[in-house]
Amino acid sequence: MQIGVIGAGYVGLVTAAVFADLGNDVVCHDRDESRIRMLQQGEMPFYEPGLQEMVTRNMRDRRLRFTTRVDEMVDFARVIFIAVGTPADSDGDTDLSQVKSAARAIGQHMKEYKIIVNKSTAPVGTGDLVRQIIAAHQPQPVPFDVVSNPEFLREGSAIQDMLNPDRIVIGAPSRQVAMAVMELYAPLGRPILVTDVQTAEIIKYASNAFLALKISFINAIADLCEATQADIEMVARGIGLDHRIGPHFLRAGLGYGGSCFPKDVQSLIHTARRYRVDDGLFVAAHRINRVRVERFVHRMDHVLNGLDGKAIGVWGLSFKPDTDDLRESRAVELVQRLLDAGATVQVYDPVAVPRARTVLGDTVVYCTNAYEAAQDVDALAIATEWREFRQVDFDRLRQRMRQPIIFDGRNMYDPERMARMGFYYYSIGRPMVSPERAAG
Ligand code: NAD
Repeated sequence: MQIGVIGAGYVGLVTAAVFADLGNDVVCHDRDESRIRMLQQGEMPFYEPGLQEMVTRNMRDRRLRFTTRVDEMVDFARVIFIAVGTPADSDGDTDLSQVKSAARAIGQHMKEYKIIVNKSTAPVGTGDLVRQIIAAHQPQPVPFDVVSNPEFLREGSAIQDMLNPDRIVIGAPSRQVAMAVMELYAPLGRPILVTDVQTAEIIKYASNAFLALKISFINAIADLCEATQADIEMVARGIGLDHRIGPHFLRAGLGYGGSCFPKDVQSLIHTARRYRVDDGLFVAAHRINRVRVERFVHRMDHVLNGLDGKAIGVWGLSFKPDTDDLRESRAVELVQRLLDAGATVQVYDPVAVPRARTVLGDTVVYCTNAYEAAQDVDALAIATEWREFRQVDFDRLRQRMRQPIIFDGRNMYDPERMARMGFYYYSIGRPMVSPERAAG
């Protein structure tokens, strides 16, 4: 099949690479010329495990190419995936300007029948909007169909997620159109759910909001544990063993970040209000999440007797491990709050430092390894649970620090062990431990 993809971001580029790898001919277009030039030279615009190899292989085999010319992509493709950004506007509502401009461009260049598949996460009703915009911009009326095919991949495991999704949702105006899109996914052999367009649009928001809700739920329970000296990790295990609840997304911490959950929950709030439906549940999830970092810094401030003039090491900058994406990263919020409180901050992240420089500038010291970031600090804060932080030489770490105090925003370590290793260890929703307590 000849496939076009508009948008070479996380979703568009992975979609293009995977469909090419499945044997289709794919042209991927982005309006960002520098991004397209990079890709044409075989350089990836962001870090994603396995992506470079897959893109290189398919470019070499001439199944995948990149263009700045939208007309070239539209002419070539029979099926066009829209995978542009849908960020939140200043009000938290969805900014659909990228989707609208993509639809306009497709309409302007459409000369024969196409299926337009929207992969961008966009509120219910966007399928209709895309259809209207395309129709309004066609030089001559040409038939076309619009499908909603929400994407569920996670950054850091995007390729694997796209190759092996739990389900594929295809919201189509007719069985025949759904079949055409199903054919593209058939080689994956994964469950496919065919719905109407608006149902597919809501499935995406309902999925993300439910996961966000689980995180906010466990964080609310973590606060209760902290107040009562209970242990959130055991509570999470205790409830997660109930098969009706399940163990996933019950990790207490600094809350959810990234380019999806925060904006999607806010978008759902706006949609609920638009249709005069109760938004209370979603508002609560958002509110609980919003104050996680503030609460964490407040605790640091209290324990350290003020943050002004203190040296703090921060491990992790990306919004989660295995990506260099900093969008809505709780780690970046943590650094900014520490700086606002007058602390000096030295940071380390296995891959996100180059990107962090564009966000944090020279307000922090960038370190090349985890130990360097702990050198002479009054305390260390852990903001992203990178795997390499699990294999730390704690003796070496303690010797580097001015005081052996760790604030763990991701509950990476066993408190008893940390106390035995000589640390004052503050984690989320678990009692604080100290070397004295371990000795006692
Ligand atoms: P992104 O910001 O990484 O990429 C979007 C790309 O689209 C950019 O390169 C931009 O230059 C390009 N673009 C914007 N408007 C364009 C236009 N009119 N013509 C051509 N190119 C245009 O975004 P992303 O993270 O890939 O997300 C894309 C969509 O997928 C969003 O709706 C997002 O919510 C959704 N989504 C993202 C993820 C994720 O993990 N990133 C997962 C599932 C769904």
